[in-house]
Amino acid sequence: MRHASSPPDERRGARPPGVPRTLATRTLTRCGSCGGHKLRALPLRYEYRGQAFPLVECRTCGLRFLSVQPTGASLARLYTASYFEQDFRCGRSRTSYFAEDAFRDENRNLLESFERLVPRGRLLEVGCAGGWLLKQATERGWQAKGVELSADAVGHALSLGLDVVRGELAEAGFPPSSFDLVYLGDVLEHVPDCHALVAEVARVLRRGGHLYLRGPITTHSLARSLALGLYRHLPGGIVLREPPYHLWEFTPRSLQALLRTVGFEVLRLEQSKIPPGPPHGEKTPLQRLAMGMIDALNVPLTRAFQVWGDRIVVVARKA
Ligand SMILES: [Zn+2]
Repeated sequence: MRHASSPPDERRGARPPGVPRTLATRTLTRCGSCGGHKLRALPLRYEYRGQAFPLVECRTCGLRFLSVQPTGASLARLYTASYFEQDFRCGRSRTSYFAEDAFRDENRNLLESFERLVPRGRLLEVGCAGGWLLKQATERGWQAKGVELSADAVGHALSLGLDVVRGELAEAGFPPSSFDLVYLGDVLEHVPDCHALVAEVARVLRRGGHLYLRGPITTHSLARSLALGLYRHLPGGIVLREPPYHLWEFTPRSLQALLRTVGFEVLRLEQSKIPPGPPHGEKTPLQRLAMGMIDALNVPLTRAFQVWGDRIVVVARKA
């Protein structure tokens, strides 16, 4: 699963077929990473179909997460084919996931990074979407398997002849030490239980095996950090009128803390910043101008000093 700006029909308030008007939700009173119960409200919330999904922060480990989260079938139904067909790169690309050429170079670079860690061996991609990475991995000699929650995406992967299981990782029932490398690309922020997922990843990896993780750390960027500080003192807070896809908002600190709790040793952690582009969500002209200027300053700062990134790559080893 990858992040999407909301599809146009969602933005207009129409609902895709089969999606109930109200999402089934659960309320979290403890941190999903360390279990801590000291949480503080942050001035940001998603509003979607009349429901509010507020962001909180754990005072112990720093994990930020939605204290109300869509759950079960309501969560799975957010990821219909339209999610993969529409833009799913935060409003910055109009490429459909199902266009193979759009991902060939990116996936080749990724597989070359994997091959610098491990000889071509047993690869698992959790949240493999329609399977383009697995297809390319198989062609390069990896024994590649995938797990994916979206029925539409699994159908696409199976049509390519790939070994993909529909459901959550735990449901796939892989024996311990089944894999040499597990890849999570823009996935961990979407899953209902981030701690359970990384624990299960550690279980299915062999000792000394690698986790390669990529994803957003959006609220860690300079503009978002400043906005969270500023809106603490303003009424209303920041409202994102789109589906609550990101249940967990990691920072480098909270992500490392989570991985360590399940026995990973973090080998490499690299931040990057998406260059200024079309704004994500509804913004006033003044907000767009301010964000564009701050983002333009943010890009070289992240490159030079590894601060205020909004994307992260983590390589970790099972100790
Ligand atoms: Zn915590």
